[in-house]
Amino acid sequence: MAKFNDALRGYAYYIHKRDGFKCIYCGLDGSESFSSWLSLSWDHLLPKGHPKRDDPDYIVTACMFCNVADNQYFVKTEERGLKFDGMTLEELVAQRKPYVMKTRNSYHEFWNGNVRKDKTGS
Ligand SMILES: [Zn+2]
Repeated sequence: MAKFNDALRGYAYYIHKRDGFKCIYCGLDGSESFSSWLSLSWDHLLPKGHPKRDDPDYIVTACMFCNVADNQYFVKTEERGLKFDGMTLEELVAQRKPYVMKTRNSYHEFWNGNVRKDKTGS
């Protein structure tokens, strides 16, 4: 395979492949459609300044929405009592996921009421 310098085909490809091309939070599957794949990004689970922040073992596949759904995550570390040291990847994901899903669920409600074509279901 040719070498690519961009993230989707290069740096992030390894992370996406490891995670089955699925957003770790909502499950959006980048292998199902081209536009889904284009919506994949990568999410750092460790704060800036942490020695392992840029270690791929602590970066996961996330869709663009989930990635920024809780962009106050690291700002609110103390307030939320978040821990980063000595945590496994799974523990870090489990710690972050409720904050991402809370925002996502509130957008889902809006979508159901205001955007969705068939507004009968939920
Ligand atoms: Zn997602």
